[in-house]
Amino acid sequence: MGVLCSVIRFENLHELRRLCHWGPIIALSVIAICSAMAMIDAVLWYWPLDTTGGSINFIMLINWTVMILYNYFNAMFVGPGYVPFGWKPENSQDCMYLQYCKICQSYKAPRSHHCRKCNRCVMKMDHHCPWINNCCGFQNHASFTLFLLLAPLGCIHAAFIFVMTMYTQLYNRVSFGWSSVRIDMSAARRDPRPIIPFGLSAFAASLFALGLALGTTIAVGMLFFIQMKVILRNKTSIESWIEEKAKDRINYYQTKETFIFPYDLGSKWNNFKQVFTWSGISEGDGFEWPVKEGCHQYSLTIEQLKQKADKRVRSVRYQAIEDYNGACCPLTKGLRTFFTTPCTEEPRIILCKGDQILATRGLKQWMYGEKITDLATDDQCRNDETSATKNGGPWTGASSQDGKRVRGWFPRRCVEKCLYDSETDQPLDGEKKTR
Ligand SMILES: [Zn+2]
Ligand SMILES: [Zn+2]
Repeated sequence: MGVLCSVIRFENLHELRRLCHWGPIIALSVIAICSAMAMIDAVLWYWPLDTTGGSINFIMLINWTVMILYNYFNAMFVGPGYVPFGWKPENSQDCMYLQYCKICQSYKAPRSHHCRKCNRCVMKMDHHCPWINNCCGFQNHASFTLFLLLAPLGCIHAAFIFVMTMYTQLYNRVSFGWSSVRIDMSAARRDPRPIIPFGLSAFAASLFALGLALGTTIAVGMLFFIQMKVILRNKTSIESWIEEKAKDRINYYQTKETFIFPYDLGSKWNNFKQVFTWSGISEGDGFEWPVKEGCHQYSLTIEQLKQKADKRVRSVRYQAIEDYNGACCPLTKGLRTFFTTPCTEEPRIILCKGDQILATRGLKQWMYGEKITDLATDDQCRNDETSATKNGGPWTGASSQDGKRVRGWFPRRCVEKCLYDSETDQPLDGEKKTR
């Protein structure tokens, strides 16, 4: 229902533009190819009209397709839920515990993060998923995860049909469905032409669809397990990263603090019930969250503010010693740089020898940072970037829209640390984990 309403409602028509992106185009093509091929092959392998087994098989196929598409469009068009523009906490004193998003002109509610792609602050943001061209967050967490569960199940069923069809067509030319209703041999003898001729091209198409189905099963199945981990711990990918940085920060400064992640309700079942409900709508309003004993609403946001303050100190100044043309997989920077390019849509930055960069995180061969331009040399103004996950993961960060700030990835071998800066003796964020 929700999906229908959100598609039909006029003010949401502009949401249809979400379809015009490589993610949904590829995802829907894969769904269409696998479903259509599975139905064609199902007719050949297990004739659906005269046998109970065949009917059940065919109805199940249609059922997978409908449920997959329903959850897919639900995740895409219902969306994660956005923090309203200009939002502030009811008690204005609480503002001091929250970060402010300049783009949305609102405070960032607990667990929300600004998504650059959506250009909004997203409630309980987990990540921006290019396949639904939307964020995965508070409102669509359940439908998104259901999609991740149903897609592999449907693909396994389809893969089974593809294999059985190719097998029976290759070795028998008379399918199981025909023979089981005993119109098989006589019918085949009378009219040797099957309803759908299964030639070489049909065989190739089935094989192609089989590859797609198996690939989808593995890739999407892995994503399902990641999302289940997120839900059962009640800790989004971004929050895992914040927690890791909290431990890092406390360890680094040797303060006696302990950081307790506030949203894990103690049992997997309780965490599960927060997301999956009978009504299909996640528990809560997206602003206030049940927290563990000893924690309060702003336990996590206060930690984020501490990290933000700490980040300025821990960014490291680097200088470019080689030119870099901004290619994702540069050919001239060595094989390891070529093959370990970060799998993210985040930009690369072009470097010229002598450029100065402030790095905030890094992988073994790559680093992420901001180019120090004449307009933005004052690193005291650096703010806003809220959090990020490791390589390839979701991340957020507010960007100024004036285009003055140049941020992105660059190969580590193109730069060297500036030693004259007293702040540079400190380890780069993330470095310890990747070495
Ligand atoms: Zn925002
Ligand atoms: Zn987004």
